[in-house]
Amino acid sequence: MSADALLSRLDGVKRTGAGRWLAKCPGHEDKSPSLSVRELDDGRILLHDFAGCDVEHVLGTIGLTFNSLFPERPIEYGKPERRPFLPSDVFEVVRGEVGVIAIVAADLHKSRAVSEADYQRVFVAAQRLNDIAMAAYGK
Ligand SMILES: [Zn+2]
Repeated sequence: MSADALLSRLDGVKRTGAGRWLAKCPGHEDKSPSLSVRELDDGRILLHDFAGCDVEHVLGTIGLTFNSLFPERPIEYGKPERRPFLPSDVFEVVRGEVGVIAIVAADLHKSRAVSEADYQRVFVAAQRLNDIAMAAYGK
């Protein structure tokens, strides 16, 4: 929800600065505006009642919940979402690739024949580890 939509549910709204307002708190008998409303750059809304009402109570009296304090996400088509890797996922990949290398190294150490496919797989492992480093450090 936008700050404007929230403010439309409040009485005695006064703008006190860029993205900042004071309003009468709907959570208690408020003679002078004690509810601070702040809109952050990312669209989130911060509420604070200087008289001490908790935010959930304030929202409840005007039919809202905590979710109302977050902007509705616009739907973007054709733009892949970029998610950061979880460190545990990266670690699992690294562990798997190092395991591949260790198996081939063990074969070499025991003078067992290493197939062309296994030999090539070591280069795939090296490439994957390099890709991880590039993703992590951007080089
Ligand atoms: Zn209050």
